[in-house]
Amino acid sequence: MGTVHIVGAGLAGLSAAVRLTEAGRRVILHESAPQAGGRCRSFYDATLDRVVDNGSHLALSGNRSLLGYLERVGAGGALTELRPAAFPFLDLSSGERWCLRPGGMWLFDKARRVPESRPADYLAALRTLTARPEAAVADALPPGGALYDRLWRPLAVSVMNGAPERVSARLFGAVLRETLLRGEAACRPLFAEKGLSAALVDPAVAWLDRHGAELRTGARVDGLERAGDRIAALSVDGERIALGGGDVVILAAPAWIAARLLPEAVPVPAAGRAIVNAHFRLPAATALPDGLPFLGLVGGTADWLFRRGDVLSVTVSDADALAAQPTDAVAATLWRDAAQALGTPDAALPPFRIIKERRATPDQSPVHAANRPCARTALKNLVLAGDWTNMGLPATLEGAVRSGEFAARAVLTAGITTFSRLGLFPAFTLPRRGPI
Ligand SMILES: Cc1cc2nc3c(=O)[nH]c(=O)nc-3n(C[C@H](O)[C@H](O)[C@H](O)COP(=O)(O)OP(=O)(O)OC[C@H]3O[C@@H](n4cnc5c(N)ncnc54)[C@H](O)[C@@H]3O)c2cc1C
Repeated sequence: MGTVHIVGAGLAGLSAAVRLTEAGRRVILHESAPQAGGRCRSFYDATLDRVVDNGSHLALSGNRSLLGYLERVGAGGALTELRPAAFPFLDLSSGERWCLRPGGMWLFDKARRVPESRPADYLAALRTLTARPEAAVADALPPGGALYDRLWRPLAVSVMNGAPERVSARLFGAVLRETLLRGEAACRPLFAEKGLSAALVDPAVAWLDRHGAELRTGARVDGLERAGDRIAALSVDGERIALGGGDVVILAAPAWIAARLLPEAVPVPAAGRAIVNAHFRLPAATALPDGLPFLGLVGGTADWLFRRGDVLSVTVSDADALAAQPTDAVAATLWRDAAQALGTPDAALPPFRIIKERRATPDQSPVHAANRPCARTALKNLVLAGDWTNMGLPATLEGAVRSGEFAARAVLTAGITTFSRLGLFPAFTLPRRGPI
């Protein structure tokens, strides 16, 4: 058995590495950044004198691959679960508040659903499950009505990082199928209270180290050398690493990097929209109005507020226009929304850090969603992973981890595809279209 070289130690690469190490394969992760985590990472910010995340991330209890990955590396309790599920919202333009509390007969309880919505309105979600591949979210869930403005739109923008008119209904439906439509136990919010790296990255890195896998940080793969139907060598910072007969490469870099490295025409999506985060250091630890750790906002610029001790974080998805503005202007705009939500509209702007992730997710339009590449490629020893590949979900933590699982399976079942498709590897569940 040869070595598996994994390019990129984001969640997709880490998840593949864990599965393969568990299966007894020798794994080397090549990561260009100084640390693992990719688009899901924490860092020390000197202005705030706090460790902050590149962007607040929310996961849900129905994210079974993410939770399974954490269990495997001994970090089962790393994410804090909000139980029972609750999604508090504030409309900044009207001051109206509501809290979505899924579970049991919730649709028949006015206090637990979106104001002015009717139970039957929620059935529209089912249309995303049977949407045509070319349908956008707004085709399946047409604009208009309280539920669209106060639930479907904010949810689609956050989950898909794009306007409902531009993003795939099928991918959005896949999330609803695995979470909201499975009931309360599958849609409890999960947070990284101690930060993304501490919860989702460091435990996997430590586990891999203990189990003999090698993580090489600061190692940029700048070329994949092809010979016939195989990858013959990797170039890492200009140095050639020849591959042996049993060696395999898993390319788990983001889409825009993969497009540069892939030696042949694989349909790789372009970068999608930006996500902007603002972290504000408040004079003291502050609770959000509902006493919950996060708050959804509509009617302003900010989408979500998250509190962690004395740091208040604001997230805006589908944020290209905001990201184009100067940092001070972004901070002023987002602080205005945050201060209003806290009930202190005249509070002075506190110390802040703005993070503009311009390529936060790949393009998730129906065209790209329908053409995502599978884990296996035409080259015998090249496998793909990442939130842009065909793993059946949008570009999310869950999607990235699952893509890593599929990549690992493609390596472990090379040559026995038929058996795997017959379900002889039940630890993995296939989406409807084969990801491998
Ligand atoms: C601000 C923000 C907020 C988000 N919020 C949420 C959320 O709330 N919930 C959710 O589920 N998802 C969220 N996401 C999406 C989620 O973070 C990503 O889908 C996921 O982290 C992608 O993981 P990945 O492993 O596919 O890619 P990446 O994390 O991009 O990992 C790829 C790795 O490859 C490395 N690399 C790149 N080029 C090379 C090279 N040439 N050689 C070696 N290594 C290389 C990179 O440094 C990186 O570490 C958010 C993303 C952002 C940016």
